[in-house]
Amino acid sequence: MEGPIGQKHKQLEFALASVSDLSSSSSAAQSKPVVARFSADSGVAELRFQQESESIAAINVDLQTAKLFKLGPVQSVCISEGSDSSKEQTSYSRGVSIQFRNEEESGAFHCTFEQRKKEVLQGEQLQLPNGTVSDTRTKFDDKIEPSSSKMYFHYYGQLLHQQNMLQDYVRTGTYFAAVIENRSDFIGRVVVDVGAGSGILSLFAAQAGAKHVYAVEASEMAEYARKLISGNPLLSQRITVVKGKVEEVELPEKADIMISEPMGTLLVNERMLESYVIARDRFLLPNGKMFPSVGRIHMAPFSDEYLFIEIANKALFWQQQNYYGVDLTSLYGSAFQGYFSQPVVDAFDPRLLVAPPIFHVIDFMKSKEEDLYEIDIPLRFISSVGARVHGLACWFDVLFNGSTVQRWLTTAPGAPTTHWYQLRCVLSQPIYVMAGQEITGRLHMIAHNAQSYTIYLTLSTKMWGPGAEQEGILQTSSCKLDLKEPYYRMSQPQAYPLTQDQQQHQLITTQDIPIQSQDLEEAELMQQPSPNSDAQLNSIMGNV
Ligand code: SAH
Repeated sequence: MEGPIGQKHKQLEFALASVSDLSSSSSAAQSKPVVARFSADSGVAELRFQQESESIAAINVDLQTAKLFKLGPVQSVCISEGSDSSKEQTSYSRGVSIQFRNEEESGAFHCTFEQRKKEVLQGEQLQLPNGTVSDTRTKFDDKIEPSSSKMYFHYYGQLLHQQNMLQDYVRTGTYFAAVIENRSDFIGRVVVDVGAGSGILSLFAAQAGAKHVYAVEASEMAEYARKLISGNPLLSQRITVVKGKVEEVELPEKADIMISEPMGTLLVNERMLESYVIARDRFLLPNGKMFPSVGRIHMAPFSDEYLFIEIANKALFWQQQNYYGVDLTSLYGSAFQGYFSQPVVDAFDPRLLVAPPIFHVIDFMKSKEEDLYEIDIPLRFISSVGARVHGLACWFDVLFNGSTVQRWLTTAPGAPTTHWYQLRCVLSQPIYVMAGQEITGRLHMIAHNAQSYTIYLTLSTKMWGPGAEQEGILQTSSCKLDLKEPYYRMSQPQAYPLTQDQQQHQLITTQDIPIQSQDLEEAELMQQPSPNSDAQLNSIMGNV
């Protein structure tokens, strides 16, 4: 069952010439101009007729029972069951005669009335067994710009983009393995697929023996998911597609396990992790499982002269003093800053890292939605090599903490490439480090209403050698980036000849250093070798 998605319940107002309460003894009571307001303030959808002065009691009409009839071009009557707040009984009908100011306003009012009525009736369907959309204004709509979410769900509504994700075999294969190898977590269980897309993860869960899967998808992809699922009749009996946002839909039962692929670039882009934890609070039984349950953002400083020069060179266009007779140089500074505000998305060679990575944990089982509004990560590295540091390289992994097998899906450099690649924040002012020198800083990410984050990065090097005790900062460099506007650099050549110094230190260990672990159990979990272990790295590098 499905209902409308993304419809805000705005309060809508109409100025009317007059109304009169047909059931009132003083029928002329509100014959002066009045305002009609559609609202759902108290959780009940109603239509309120109120005189501007408010000296006369308002007439409230419950939209659930109301009907509107046209008596003439500018005259209508609204009949409903009595719901006057001053009277308890509802055993009579109430009639309100409405006089519009003109025909156009009459048409607009009728249109809104019918639309609101439809929404109310869909709200009534909450009790239906398949789950449907509830009639509440959602958290999603409060924090996300409508134009952003419109484009977002339009994007995911297209098969080609779902295909792109399905064809990321590292991604889809890891999900498949994590589900099938952990059958015992699915057999006979109720599953919710959060943001089901094509429905692929729901089908995996059904293959693993789920009792029932609710595949919740907000975009038009829900229709394709239905088709795909009914094309697999052995599984389709146990899957229900629910079209709508996880923030809005109601499901008829709670889930034993939730499955989702809510990760964007740098894990948090698209802000879908927030929907994942909202869905957890709405649908997951206490002690239920989440697949995945933990995400980690990994970070390390890198040195990449080619990348730096490439970005800096893009702005050179604006240094022309005679572009068709026009001096462009006044915009050079802005263009330069603009290019350095784009995080770079590509697959890079892990030998570009100049220090062992650290990581920041996001626990999907425990995080609150609000925790994801601002992510502040202190940085501290010890450089393994002497190099010019051009910025911070980031990637992520997520954990499927199955009862039988634990599996990590990693997007690390050097590991098989995924459609997420890796992300690099490039400083417009590189900093120099010596081998053994400390690099400190901060990665501060603030969510914005276009489903992404503004990133503030600062890297500093401290005094090294004899003056170190004074803790003096030698150099510091900062940048501000918009995660929503990355520079996709996949078509660039990926050859990185190493300096002699780098060759000596090329095997920087990727045994990451945890910088935030939320409890003992998790701390233990984090001690597991990173998927991008030395052995793997060695073999990858052997092939380079
Ligand atoms: N689970 C699928 C699709 C993952 S992409 C797969 O693994 O292949 C994420 C999907 O979540 C998109 O189809 C998007 O439309 C949907 N989505 C994002 N936010 C949502 C929300 N708040 N409610 C419901 N669906 C959402």
